[in-house]
Amino acid sequence: LSTWQAINNYTQCIMPNIANVIVDIALNREFDYLIPDHLCDMIDIGFRVTVPFGKRYIAGYVVGLSDTSECVQLKEIQRCIGSQPVMNPSMLRLAQWISHYYISPLESCVQSVLPSPIRKKNNQFKEQYFVELTHKDHKKIDKDIYKKAPRQAKILDLLHSSGSLFMTDLIKTAEASPQSIRALERKGLVSITSKQVHRNPLRDVKIIKTHPLSLMPQQQAALDAIKASMDEKKPRALLIHGVTGSGKTEVYMQSIEYARRKGQGAIILVPEISLTPQTVDRFRSRFGDEVAVLHSHLADGERHDEWHRIRRGEAVIAIGPRSAVFAPISNLGLLVVDEEHENSYKQEESPRYHARDVAIMRGTFEHCTVVLGTATPSLAAYYNTQKGKFGLIKMNHRVDHRSMPLVKIVDMRIEAQREGKVYVLSRELTEAIQARLDRTEQVILFLNRRGYSSSLICPMCGFVAECDACSISMTYHKKGNVLRCHICGHLQHVPEKCPNPKCQDPGFRYVGVGTQKVEDVIQKVFPKAVIKRMDTDTTVGKNAHARVLGDFRVGKIDILLGTQMIAKGLDFPNVTLVGVISADVALHMPDFRAGERTFQLLTQVAGRAGRGDIPGEVIIQTYTPFHPSIQAARRLDYDAFYDQEIEFRRELNYPPFSRLVCVTFRGMNEAKVEETAKFFLEHIQPLLQDHVTISDPVPAPIARIKGSFRYQIMIRSAKIKSLNKALHHVSESFKAPKDVKYSIDIDAVNIL
Ligand code: ADP
Ligand code: ZN
Repeated sequence: LSTWQAINNYTQCIMPNIANVIVDIALNREFDYLIPDHLCDMIDIGFRVTVPFGKRYIAGYVVGLSDTSECVQLKEIQRCIGSQPVMNPSMLRLAQWISHYYISPLESCVQSVLPSPIRKKNNQFKEQYFVELTHKDHKKIDKDIYKKAPRQAKILDLLHSSGSLFMTDLIKTAEASPQSIRALERKGLVSITSKQVHRNPLRDVKIIKTHPLSLMPQQQAALDAIKASMDEKKPRALLIHGVTGSGKTEVYMQSIEYARRKGQGAIILVPEISLTPQTVDRFRSRFGDEVAVLHSHLADGERHDEWHRIRRGEAVIAIGPRSAVFAPISNLGLLVVDEEHENSYKQEESPRYHARDVAIMRGTFEHCTVVLGTATPSLAAYYNTQKGKFGLIKMNHRVDHRSMPLVKIVDMRIEAQREGKVYVLSRELTEAIQARLDRTEQVILFLNRRGYSSSLICPMCGFVAECDACSISMTYHKKGNVLRCHICGHLQHVPEKCPNPKCQDPGFRYVGVGTQKVEDVIQKVFPKAVIKRMDTDTTVGKNAHARVLGDFRVGKIDILLGTQMIAKGLDFPNVTLVGVISADVALHMPDFRAGERTFQLLTQVAGRAGRGDIPGEVIIQTYTPFHPSIQAARRLDYDAFYDQEIEFRRELNYPPFSRLVCVTFRGMNEAKVEETAKFFLEHIQPLLQDHVTISDPVPAPIARIKGSFRYQIMIRSAKIKSLNKALHHVSESFKAPKDVKYSIDIDAVNIL
């Protein structure tokens, strides 16, 4: 033996016998435990274990192995849960990255990586009894049975013709009792075994197999670019900027097919809102049972089984919202983030990760191609293509060269002057709707505000009805004649007179329209039309959403009216008119991204028009017709929008030129909240470098939620690394008083 081999053999002999464990009660640190001899061969990183902790036993995860520890008296791991690790090293690495980047305890990051039905101890596979014949020629073996026990005979015949069956199904179909089946077992004619059943969320869905379409040239070019990237050792992320209806989904599917040919799996992320049966069916029709759906609406058992189906490699294509980025697909070849610009990819509780950015990280760790797709790229993603960090693929045309819709802006100020009062529907929009109804084409009307009226105002003293607990105005809901707070859900009866004790005027007025009011108005104007409203108030039931869309598809509905729920991803060829009741709702939010959101929303909603053979028309009503975002949306000109928006961001050093961190403090005692925020500021300021901009603590735009006062500190820095270090330091050393909570939101999206 050479010396080198000897050393090598020697080191292999020392088995690490200490496990670094994080425990479920998030303490944000690792604990060392001895691995007992009988578990030595089994335990590995990613295993779920129970360990003694104080006077009790708690569950945790093995996150590392070592052969030394700084602790002297180590306790032993009690036992392993399950016979395999629940997390592979790359998922653990991802959790560790999230923990570090988003400044969140590793324990809660691991909880995000693993869906709750997997973590829960009692959640297991469902077992069912399964009956099969022991002999093929059972008729010869026991002739008597056919004379004496006709029920048992029926069971045998059924098993003979249909093969083995689950006990429950057999009992139902043969109208038999469990006793008869047990009797047959005693006679040795059938065997009963326990078998795992798969709780399949799609079991009742019938699908028709589809085949790859022959691609348009721009689709082919996109596919070629993705394939080339998939063949690279260290692929970089690609952004597909493809107009609505350019056939991005077909490109995704053929890219997945390429991954499959290479023996790789894929993940498709879609925003929760567009994870409709329609979307899932498109993938299932192409890839069948290889597709698993990870949806938060699934029952726990279904989620458990779908996850394990992926884990075992039975399903190799996962589709789902945000958290599907953690799908345990091994040998991942492609990760698609559809509608990359969507805010729902950002988790608004700890860990406050952005699924698009986590996807990019996972792609880097696993050397897999990440494709971001959208008609309205986020400024951040597009900026990255300009800097060469991401590749850019353009798809400028709709499939079959269908024309883009014609967008018209209606200036509601002129409309109001002409008509002498404010109308919900302009004359132009009314006529356009009428024309569609006459031709039995369909209409989508969009307004991003539910309820009846946005607020209740006293015209005498200017009093506005606000929620007692939250600092926003109450929305009037005609149903039940109530005021409702859209933040905390608080309900209140409409006051009979102005509550201001100095005023008490009875002449309350409603201002601002919501979807309920629009519904009333259009029903009056078009009494014969079938109108359906879709917002969170109407789609409460589990399948309400799908049902309405189904009815719309088959033409049972003429006008579909709704909030952002209907703005995205829907593909209805017979919709030739889209009306935006007011483009101003999103525009006047106190948020530097208001312009970006407005442009995205208008472009997306416009994209619902004219997806069939008849060209589409879009009518946008607004009081600010010359706003650059609205003008860019009118021309459907992303580049124009980007050019002016990026200048604005550059001047003010907003993202993507800086990373934005929003620290929010909350508590019932306002003075204390403000004081804590100031204290935090004093604490962090000396740690910051020159290029970091930090604001004084100020009340948040929504200054109160559920009675809790909210203060914010905004931090901007071109470099995240040094800022991150300072924030880690503060989050470990800074102690807020008990009744003040604070959160650190890295790359904050929601700053209200
Ligand atoms: P996007 O996701 O870009 O908005 P979709 O993928 O929904 O667009 O495609 C729009 C429509 O065009 C769909 O109905 C789709 O089936 C159809 N389509 C896509 N690619 C082709 C193609 N190569 N040939 C014919 N039809 C296509
Ligand atoms: Zn409220």
